Amino acid sequence: MTGDLRQDLVWLYRELTQRGMLVGSSGNVSARSDDGMLITPTGCDAATLKPADLVQMRLSGAYDGAIRPSSEWELHAAIYRDAPNAQVIVHTHADHATALACLNRDLPAFHYNIAEFGGEDVRCAPYATFGTPELARLAAAAIRGRTACLLANHGMICHAATMNGAMEAAIRLEALCRQYLLALAAGLPRLLTPTEMQAALARYATYGQRQETNG
Ligand SMILES: [Zn+2]
Repeated sequence: MTGDLRQDLVWLYRELTQRGMLVGSSGNVSARSDDGMLITPTGCDAATLKPADLVQMRLSGAYDGAIRPSSEWELHAAIYRDAPNAQVIVHTHADHATALACLNRDLPAFHYNIAEFGGEDVRCAPYATFGTPELARLAAAAIRGRTACLLANHGMICHAATMNGAMEAAIRLEALCRQYLLALAAGLPRLLTPTEMQAALARYATYGQRQETNG
């Protein structure tokens, strides 16, 4: 982390690529900035991405310069408009999250770590064509009150307060989707009860997340 938004965002994109989270460059990242957001360009490639390639744009879609923003910019803008706590957004087509999203299923309370994303489940937004205002609207609604949602027949999106937080959230959501699919392949997982999830949510609210929940 350098504290420079452009450099840090390049770091985030590269790190996610190295960890196999951006399969074939399918995904994008952004960070809230003073007058809108900074987002990866369309046709982004981790090998050649430079800080100057990132596109500074208003949440209305206006931007200066010749480099076009990711085709999914509206997805990011809708979430920044709707969620004041969103500072960094990661959108990926990571394998297991995408597989689950293709079943058009919410990720239910099969594990207490679901509470990390702010509720008793991680919802799956209904399908809409990529890059459309309709998809942005559906995703903003599905992620409301949470920090992540799945996107039907597409992938997932999550937000956090920091670059590191967003990277870890994406990796942990992908792991939870993998674990849920494994459990489904072996049988029918017992879901935690609302009372059990409320207790987990209360723990997350009271204690530092990393120290208390990774045991
Ligand atoms: Zn996408």
